[in-house]
Amino acid sequence: MQNVVIIGSGCAGNTAAIYTGRANLKPLVIGGHEPGGQLSITTEVENFPGFPEGVDGPELVNRMKQQAQKFGAEYVNGSVTEADLSRRPFRLKVEEEWIETRTLIVASGASARWLGLPSEQKLIGRGVSSCATCDGFFFRGKNIMVVGGGDTAMEEANFLTRFGREVVIAHRRDDFRASKIMLDRCKNNPKIHWLTNTVIEEVHDVGQNTVTSVRLKNLKTGEVSERDVDGIFIAIGHIPNTKPFVGQLDLDPDGYIISHGGARTNIEGVFHAGDVQDRAYRQAITASGAGCMAAMEAERFLEQEGH
Ligand code: NAP
Repeated sequence: MQNVVIIGSGCAGNTAAIYTGRANLKPLVIGGHEPGGQLSITTEVENFPGFPEGVDGPELVNRMKQQAQKFGAEYVNGSVTEADLSRRPFRLKVEEEWIETRTLIVASGASARWLGLPSEQKLIGRGVSSCATCDGFFFRGKNIMVVGGGDTAMEEANFLTRFGREVVIAHRRDDFRASKIMLDRCKNNPKIHWLTNTVIEEVHDVGQNTVTSVRLKNLKTGEVSERDVDGIFIAIGHIPNTKPFVGQLDLDPDGYIISHGGARTNIEGVFHAGDVQDRAYRQAITASGAGCMAAMEAERFLEQEGH
């Protein structure tokens, strides 16, 4: 029987593990299908306080994990596929084994969203990617397209200019969600070109099992065109990882956990932390802060229950 199980090993999960570990609760962290969370697939983080020179995302999250392990947190690989939160102890199925816990911190984050085109799906890993850090290297001297108009798209596009001959940002509107600083950085990068009011209708060439070009549609003029590209990076946001909790935790229509104040969910003893609940801020520092809040609430809850 565990005192605290933390689902997810990104900034939120690791920070919750540092705090609950330091409180001697011996937390068990379930790594999830993307260990390290979003930071593990990012490049330089310039806005995490305490690093005036910036810090490598994977390094930052790994340091958090080491800090938690120092305080006795245990990490296991795998994902939660089923959960029974109807009574305490809560039960979680991880890689075919059931785990019991007195409290649960859900820090399972949100995963990359895809366009959903059949041709896109078939070519994932064959020219279609959601992670510039992971796959940018493969497109040295090639034509790259980035889809999206948020900070992620800007960050990826900028990073990809290190590799690509050119990087085209295709965005479905002509207004951008991205912050001014990130947008300006791209606008000032001579390797970046823009296609606004534009969507991808199809990715070619499924027959050759590699990306060669795309069919584009201008949403304002209705014009359809073809463009040669070798790599496509989809950067259109994320989907919260809450599938095992549907029907148990209160979720909003997009699947994000609805907070019941602080780090509390609708179920006593189950707490939320990070992007799985937060659709507004979604930063490394806010996820870490949320992990701290969830840990403190779990500690208090266990104390009240006499553990
Ligand atoms: P986001 O801000 O939600 O932006 C998603 C973008 O994808 C939007 O431009 C959206 O278009 C577009 N999009 C969504 N679905 C689409 C579809 N089916 N087809 C075509 N386009 C689609 O997501 P994000 O860029 O991943 O950023 C998430 C959060 O992380 C934000 O708060 C951001 O500030 C933060 N972030 C910060 C940094 C940093 O500061 N270093 C880096 C990355 C992310 P519409 O605008 O038309 O809806």
